[in-house]
Amino acid sequence: MELYKTNQIKVYNSLSKSKEIFKPIHEGNIGLYVCGPTVYSNVHLGNVRTFMSFDMIYRYFLHLGYKVRYVRNITDAGHLTDDDAEDKISTKARLEKLEPMEIVQKYTVDFHEILQEFNFLPPSIEPTATGHIVEQIEAIKQMLANGLAYESNGSVYFDVLKYNAEGGDYGILSKRNMEDVLSNTRQLDGQSEKKNPQDFALWKKASPEHIMRWPSPWSVGFPGWHLECTVMSTKYLGDNFDIHGGGMDLKFPHHECEIAQSKACNHTNPVNYWMHTNMLTLNGQKMSKSTGNSILPGEILSGDNDKLNKPFSASVVRFFCMQAHYRSILDFSSDALEASEKGYQKLMTAVDEIENLKTSESSSINIEAWKQQCYDAMNDDFNTPILIAHLFEGVKFINQIKEENETIIATDLALLKTTMYTFIYKVLGLENNSTAENGGENKLSGVVEMLIKMRRNARDNKDWALSDKIRDELLALGIQLKDGKDGTTFSVN
Ligand code: AMP
Ligand code: ZN
Repeated sequence: MELYKTNQIKVYNSLSKSKEIFKPIHEGNIGLYVCGPTVYSNVHLGNVRTFMSFDMIYRYFLHLGYKVRYVRNITDAGHLTDDDAEDKISTKARLEKLEPMEIVQKYTVDFHEILQEFNFLPPSIEPTATGHIVEQIEAIKQMLANGLAYESNGSVYFDVLKYNAEGGDYGILSKRNMEDVLSNTRQLDGQSEKKNPQDFALWKKASPEHIMRWPSPWSVGFPGWHLECTVMSTKYLGDNFDIHGGGMDLKFPHHECEIAQSKACNHTNPVNYWMHTNMLTLNGQKMSKSTGNSILPGEILSGDNDKLNKPFSASVVRFFCMQAHYRSILDFSSDALEASEKGYQKLMTAVDEIENLKTSESSSINIEAWKQQCYDAMNDDFNTPILIAHLFEGVKFINQIKEENETIIATDLALLKTTMYTFIYKVLGLENNSTAENGGENKLSGVVEMLIKMRRNARDNKDWALSDKIRDELLALGIQLKDGKDGTTFSVN
């Protein structure tokens, strides 16, 4: 039976600024579009966090039995954003003495490698902006025909004021009125071509130094950034689809413009649920390529960055990200990662123990109720920190059953195991480093666990001398035992 039929999900919709009950357009099917990276440099950890949040959401929908078409694009067309005088791909091509398409290829490959290292599921479709120039030109023609765009000196702009005068709702997503929009518009090249400063480019005539260019009815030029996502999302998911996601910084102008363009072309609201992830910060500032306040995923795996005390595995980084809700700001630091590493190890050590647990005639723990709490957390706008708190409740059960303070029947043990495995591996996408690549660490934890058991026996036999000897000699080796109410755990210093 499809689990989605028994699990009502609440999703925070940026459009209504509230949690709404999620109802897909076609029962059992979900159309999901997420804005992909601009491939002019390596993705930083902030980008990874956003893509990881949607990977988790995609994974959960799949687990519930939904058929999901997940479209995540590659922005490779070299358009200008409001802050730039020159497109970033061209600038990088000049700097690295490469063709723009070599830059695109290089950083697309880098992006895919990172996704693989961090255990992402691939999207169903990964379209590129340059592969959809024809569709973008067609959409511009439609907006011109509908009277909501105009040509000026070989460029084409969206007529924001006319769109709103004719019943449009520019500002609906970002909750900005025209004065707010105006005060955020910088006096840039091209302003003189526009009827009003609020208008945004659908097509730009290429200046002589602009390398990425295509012929069009208006000029040899390139499409506006916002247009590619309108065209690619609706091409693959339909004029009206379920979920559109991206980082919060894309809400305005990118997503605001997408709504206006879609309505101007198709006369329908494109997206039912807008989902926005919050930012990863470093030293309290948004992680960003352009300011250099960033850390690369590869640097975390190698430890090769001054901001890191040591290297960390991809799963520890995933666990760190999942410990925060996707709509909360998360501040990166080496210390925070170290804390996550300890939590992750505790979780995995317990998971490794499940197979060894003994069953009894009756259960003293209500596993069914606990499992429901795990689902409830995810159904409440994908609340991974609450889910993780419940998984640690599962860790407590495992340790208490191991210590024989609690009992469990075989069917409950099977349920405990599948629930832990489902959420840890399938939904959160964590990998068990102790069993996978890290055989050494696994052996070490096996040996320490064995010594913990020997110490427990010694204490049961009131052999305090042996018990203390095991503890002290492990400590001399840098392995500290901690006796808690859930049993004994250890940390390696
Ligand atoms: P870009 O390649 O700059 O278009 O960014 C790709 C995705 O990463 C977008 O959804 C951005 O909103 C998101 N993003 C950029 N910076 C951060 C950050 N510091 N934290 C989280 N997400 C970010
Ligand atoms: Zn986009």
